[in-house]
Amino acid sequence: MSDQLAQDAVRTTRADVLLASAGERGILCDYYSETAAEIYRDIMDDEGEDTGAISEAQEFANHIPAGSAPVLELAAGAGRLTFPLLDLGLEITALELSAKMVATLSKRLAEAPAEVQARCTAVVGDMADFAFDQQFRAVIISPGTIAVLDDEGRAGLYASVRKHLAPGGQFLVGVGQQNPNKDEPLERFQDLTGASGREYVLHHQRWFPGDEEVHDITIYPADETADPFLICTHRMRIPNMDRIVRECEAAGFDVTVQHFAGKLPQDVLLLKASVPA
Ligand code: SAM
Repeated sequence: MSDQLAQDAVRTTRADVLLASAGERGILCDYYSETAAEIYRDIMDDEGEDTGAISEAQEFANHIPAGSAPVLELAAGAGRLTFPLLDLGLEITALELSAKMVATLSKRLAEAPAEVQARCTAVVGDMADFAFDQQFRAVIISPGTIAVLDDEGRAGLYASVRKHLAPGGQFLVGVGQQNPNKDEPLERFQDLTGASGREYVLHHQRWFPGDEEVHDITIYPADETADPFLICTHRMRIPNMDRIVRECEAAGFDVTVQHFAGKLPQDVLLLKASVPA
């Protein structure tokens, strides 16, 4: 079965148990990989109106400086936040690592009015190392998403963003706050129903190596007899805001932090960084 293991998938404790019982049927993959794209889309149901994304977009828009340069959204996924940003009249370049996610975003875009299509460019790219021949008045990362990058990835991100911010531009990042309450359950199961009606199970586990908070998620079909049986995992290190602020300052940004006013289930902070004139 090892040849079926996607390169970057984390073998969570829950995945271990599931792989042991599924035997040859079991396929481990990262939740954000191409292999898991169908399940991701089924669960995220990006097609419907998402009031959370609308309020997130409004909160970001409140901090975007006036100007004619476009806005760069990094790790845009299938466009959950991109479309509400477009609805606010912004011109958006959406960069995303997964070609399948970009294909989904582009498919939705093709169904949008021509005027909206004209204001959006979707590209496959790595937010830790990107190059455009233009600058942006804001670079945005949706809440929690910076956690997909490791230390080296974040260093590459800051360097790339610096090169692409127009004078007076803002780097805007939603950062989930660590939850120091270790008394809350460390492990929980949740039933999920996809847009297709298919049922899934989400297993969520928190753990605390050193001063870090790490979340392991494992998502799999509720029908454990499925063949193949896709076990999607992802590990997120909940970034310590103090560390991100220090990193941004070391990368040459002026930084402020405030509460993110969008309607989000968990407490999120907004990091605002700009390059001094
Ligand atoms: N921004 C979208 C939203 O709010 O729904 C997607 C957020 S999702 C938590 C994280 C996204 O980051 C995934 O679509 C994943 O493919 C993408 N991603 C992971 N690593 C990336 C990288 N190095 N560069 C660009 N995108 C990346």
